[in-house]
Amino acid sequence: MTSQRTRERLVQRLLEQGIADAQVLDVIGNTPRHIFLDEALSHRAYEDTALPIGYGQTLSQPYIVARMTEILLGAAASLDKVLEVGTGSGYQTAVLAQIAGQVCSVERIKPLQDKARQRLRRLGLRNVQLRHADGGFGWPEMGPFNAIISTAAPREVPPELLSQLAAGGALVIPVGSGTQQLQLILREGDADEFSTQTLEAVKFVPLLSGTTR
Ligand code: SAH
Repeated sequence: MTSQRTRERLVQRLLEQGIADAQVLDVIGNTPRHIFLDEALSHRAYEDTALPIGYGQTLSQPYIVARMTEILLGAAASLDKVLEVGTGSGYQTAVLAQIAGQVCSVERIKPLQDKARQRLRRLGLRNVQLRHADGGFGWPEMGPFNAIISTAAPREVPPELLSQLAAGGALVIPVGSGTQQLQLILREGDADEFSTQTLEAVKFVPLLSGTTR
């Protein structure tokens, strides 16, 4: 159930669903998703479905992890420094860490962050920095970022995330309450010039303000 063969079947399904980037498929094929779940659910880790991680939050479906990563790879001028809003289990963080230079990830629920930190350490991923904070404000001290990914949905795109995008940077974010759309926002130059593309309907947990211990 946690074997390489099971992961290869997941990669095959992602290919059939239209994920085409070889690097993304390779990283997903080599990242143990079962360690990002509590033991009682780990046997379901390679199903292409979102799964609960406690505190009312979910580990995103592999398809959406692959899709958002692929979008950033295709759209951002570089992935030297990436910000993730919503560390959750740390699975998306782990995938990004194997593709980007440096990953900064913010989570508002402390126990989720603590677990994610242990898992990322277990995988030996050292290019990740985690912060317990409201990621709606980004991580100003670490920015600007070449790419930003939000795995929680705000009603409207937080202006702080836009201002922390580097020139040529890309932000991928689900937006809306109820029905959400995945948006790709590009910062064209140094000036405040942004272009927005709406990509597909998605379902994420809401971006909430403040933090919990
Ligand atoms: N990438 C995660 C997805 C977890 S679900 C994974 O693969 O497991 C989204 C996460 O966003 C939740 O853990 C939730 O607590 C977090 N979140 C919601 N609002 C947030 C905010 N304002 N700042 C930081 N994290 C937030």
